[in-house]
This record gives sequence, C-alpha cells and structure tokens, in this order.
Amino acid sequence: MSSPVESFAEFGLSSGLLQALTDIGYETPSPIQAECIPVLLDGHDLIGQAQTGTGKTAAFALPLLEQIDVKLTKPQALILTPTRELAIQVAEALQSYARHLPGFHVLPIYGGQSYTIQLKQLARGAHVIVGTPGRVMDHLERKTLSLDHLKTLVLDEADEMLRMGFIDDVEWILERTPEKHQTALFSATMPDPIRRVAQKYLVEPREVKIKSATTTIAATRQVYWQVSGMHKLDALTRILEVEEDFDAALIFVRTKTATVELADKLAARGYAAAALNGDLNQQMRERVIEQLKSGALDIVIATDVAARGIDVARISHVVNYDIPYDTEAYVHRIGRTGRAGRTGNAILFVAPREIRMLRTIERATRQPIAPLTLPSRADVTNKRVAGFKERVAAVLNAEGLEFFANIVSQIAEEQDVGAEEVAAALAKMAQEAKPLQIAGEDPLPPRPSAVDTHRPASFGDRERSPRFEERGDRPRFEDRGASRPRFEDRGDKPRPEERPRFDDKPRRAAPAGEMVRYRIDVGREHGVQVKDIVGAIANEAGIESRFIGRIGLYDESSTVELPGGMPKEAENALKRIRVRGVPINLRPDEGSPRFDGEHKSDGERSFKKRKFGDG
Ligand code: AMP
Repeated sequence: MSSPVESFAEFGLSSGLLQALTDIGYETPSPIQAECIPVLLDGHDLIGQAQTGTGKTAAFALPLLEQIDVKLTKPQALILTPTRELAIQVAEALQSYARHLPGFHVLPIYGGQSYTIQLKQLARGAHVIVGTPGRVMDHLERKTLSLDHLKTLVLDEADEMLRMGFIDDVEWILERTPEKHQTALFSATMPDPIRRVAQKYLVEPREVKIKSATTTIAATRQVYWQVSGMHKLDALTRILEVEEDFDAALIFVRTKTATVELADKLAARGYAAAALNGDLNQQMRERVIEQLKSGALDIVIATDVAARGIDVARISHVVNYDIPYDTEAYVHRIGRTGRAGRTGNAILFVAPREIRMLRTIERATRQPIAPLTLPSRADVTNKRVAGFKERVAAVLNAEGLEFFANIVSQIAEEQDVGAEEVAAALAKMAQEAKPLQIAGEDPLPPRPSAVDTHRPASFGDRERSPRFEERGDRPRFEDRGASRPRFEDRGDKPRPEERPRFDDKPRRAAPAGEMVRYRIDVGREHGVQVKDIVGAIANEAGIESRFIGRIGLYDESSTVELPGGMPKEAENALKRIRVRGVPINLRPDEGSPRFDGEHKSDGERSFKKRKFGDG
C-alpha cells in the first residue's frame, strides 16, 4: 500500500478517538482514510469515489465526530444511506468510534421501523442521524427532525441511492439543509446525475479517488470463496486441509485484534500459527518470520503493514481472509506467494456485499479470479484418511514392531476378536486428537448467480441494485401501445431457501400461487418507474427485491405482487411508504383478475378496460 500516512495520530485526532481506534485494533489508515480525513478536518466539501471495503465509513465518521459538541443534544450531522442495513451498520461504526465520547448519541432512522419508537428517540436527542432518504424526509416534513444545527452532511453510496430511485428525495433534503455546512459525497461510481448533484450542492469540493493501477500477476493461481453458509474459520481450515501443494500460508486480516484472535483459534485447532502485527517489536517480528522460514510455524496471520516486505519462499498460499482495501493492497499481498520460481496460490474471501471489490480487482489485474468450491466433508475425510494411511505405512516399514504385535495378539485372544478389530480400535484411539471425520454439515454451494448476475445473495445485500437496471432494459408491453399497462415478468420466483425474511421464524416459501396483488396510488403520471416502486418497497419495508412479484404500471396507479402471509408490521410499514413523495396507500387489489401466466396481458387489458374504461 502506498498510504503516505502511517498512523491515525498524524491527523491530530482527539485522544478519545485515537484510543477507540487502538481498542478496535486499527493499525494504520487505509488509503481512502489517509486522503479524506485531512481534507474533511480542514472543513472542505468532498467527493470520495470509494466502494464498500475501502474503509470509507471511518474516512467520514472520524472527522465528523471530531466536530461534535456533545453538550448540544441536537443533530449536528446527517448521514444518508440507501438501505436500512447500511444505516444500522454506519450507526454502529460511529458508536464504536465514539466509545470514549461520553454522552454521544447516534440514531439510525429508516423505513419499516415504528414511528412511535423513532419519535421517542428523536425527542430524546441525538448528535448524529443516519437514515434512509424516505424516512428522513418524512421526519423533516413532520418537523420531528430539525437540521438547524447541522454541521456535516454525508451522502453515502450516492450511486446506490440513485439506482434505487431516491435521488429526488435526496435533493429534497439537500434543499432544506442550512446554508453553512460541510458536505461529503461518497459513491463507487460517478454517473452524471450524481455529478450534477455534487455540482449543485457541494462548494468547491476536493475530489479523492482511489487509484487502481493495472498490474499483472504471474505464476499465481487466484481463487475466491463467496462467504456463505459457513463461518470463515471453518471454511479456511477445510480449504487449507485439502489444498494439494500446501506448505505455508500467510493470512491477511484487517486489524491487530483479528491477527491475534485468528492465530489463537488456529492454534487451538492444532495449527502452528502465530500473529504478526504492528505491536510486535522488530526482534519479535523477525523471530516470527524466521520460524515461518524454518517450518516451526506454518501459518502467519498478518495485517498489511506488518507483512510488508516478507520474502519467504515456503509461502505456498496467501489467504485474503478480510478483503483488502484496494487493488494495490491485493497485489502486494498476493506477491508474498509464488516466490523463488514457485507457483503461488491466492485465496480471497468475499462477502456478498464485497463483490464489487472482487470485480475491481479482476479488472485491475486483468485476470479472472475463479470461484472456489468449498471442500466437502467427504473431501476432508478422504484427505485425512490418506494422511493417516501414510503414517501407518511409515510405521509398518520401521523396525521394532514385535513388542506391539505381541500386545495385539494378547488383546485379540482376551477379547475373542480378530486382529482387524483390534487394529480398528487402535486406529480409532490414534485419531482422537484430530478425528478423521469432521463434524458439521456441508453448506449449500453458493449460487453462482449471486456473483455472476449480481443478484442479491442475502437480505439487504447492497449488490442488488444492478438488477434494477437490468429490469429497465427488458422489452416493455408499453412499447406496443402507449395506453397499455406496463408489466415486467420478473421470472425469479423465490426458491424454498430464499424466502423473504419478514421475521426470523422458518417458514415455507410462498409459492407463486400465493402471491397477493396490491394496488398503490402512484403511477406513470407521478413520474414513477418500476425501479422506484421496487426500491421503496425493498428499502422501506425490508422486502428483498426478488420477492417482489410483477409490477403493473398504470397512469394513475400501479399494482404490485407480494408474497402472501405477510405479518401485520410489514404490511403496516408498506402502507406508510411514499414513492417520489406520494403516499402509496397500499391495499389488496381485490376483485381483479390474477396475473397468471399466458393470460396476463389479456387479463390486464380487460381489467384496465373495466376499471378505467380506456382499454
Ligand atoms: P467500510 O469500507 O467503511 O465498510 O469498512 C470495511 C471494513 O474495514 C470494516 O470492517 C471496518 O471496520 C474496517 N476498517 C476500516 N478502516 C480500517 C483501518 N484503518 N484498519 C483496519 N480496519 C479498518
């Protein structure tokens, strides 16, 4: 990494914040932090082109916290996020950075949460509000939220807000913020509408963009595992166990704390593992590297800074246990393997929301990174059995077995069993410390679609938005006649394991037949598009977009299919939604013909005729 700033102390942050960063285990600022923090501390507006995983949250959160007057219990900073999951995550990050600022309060507000609770929390007072645009707008309109004391406004993942159809809401809010405040806009991409918002509302912004230089990596096999269905630690040990040419591994994590935790956990599972982080003095650091070279250690868990310059030919594997901040860090990390003419292996763990970073790395390195299928229990067992057989064979070839053969005979005679059974009992005893068969289940293989078509892999996954765009590309019924309703056959009915998460209780999937059609009071005349409706429902009621069925867009109203059996809270949340500022007034669309299969367009036409008399 080329981050010129080595420590957070160089920014001149207050001691409470520095202490929090030490507690959390951040060693050094990430590149985006190194560039943004000084700019924001100087009071400039900022455009930061950065995606999830780069450390952008701390990049805006630390300067923002530096400006908070804890004695003034009024919102002094507002952070707008596209989804409630992100709002909660950002609020949690702020709370953890502010752990040594007594009395500090951050409040996430988002759609789908009860107004009564939110009103109470707002009345109690918070220093920072993190919210989704719709709900923030609502509170501003009701005057239950005031921005009179606002010092900082952050637009997080602005391009996502655009894709989800919230950009008008965001502008509405921007129009109502006091003249004097600092604005920071973060976005992974900079489409024109976002540029326009920046030009209109930011004052002489500084731009920070994390460069991603293209580099080629030779002689290294690169694979990734999409984190799903299994803990990263279990996946790691399975992978390391069956990798063919495993010799030694360097594992990268983000924090000092994580190096120690992972080293301890691996040691507890019988690996010769140690941590390498910035807390180690030069002598201790050299000792760890020496031990890795000599084979006294097989695994070293390091932070980026601590691993700089490591050159150990034995390192057959680099594991990116936590995804790197940028492509430069990735290239640097995986350059620790494949040395001295050997072939290296680079394994990358990617959470669903980090898939964008994976694609960025692929582009920058101009190499595809192949998905890795997690070894099954049987794979691991086979590998262990093979190793066990080898060890037994080695002992069989050695001298001095007579004494033991004699014992086996005695046991066989005393127990009245054959030698094979005695051998089986001994084999069972011999593997007790590390059983040949591993416990647990095999996770379902990750659905390739979760990566390859950018489909959402889990609830609230922020990678879902490209689907909204895809939808926009499909042929529309409207093209064939302006007065016809517009339908989009989403064609992706929920699979049993993918059902919407209205609550935590396991339930049977609502089959297609159980979809219920609702009518809402927004339509084409309100300037509404399909993506606006999907975005609002997904975001404000927490229903994943793929569980939203077909949407029929009419002039004055629209219809939406949603899974049957929705709990009351979800339905209530839906009723309160606004799309483009218009209350949708959701209600079951009773008495209308169902959308079923081939008859859908005819059915709709006659329906439209009956209802609006213009078919
Ligand atoms: P973000 O891109 O803000 O979502 O951050 C991604 C992850 O990196 C989060 O888990 C942060 O806690 C972590 N992180 C952010 N900055 C640092 C840092 N300077 N050192 C270590 N971890 C960090």
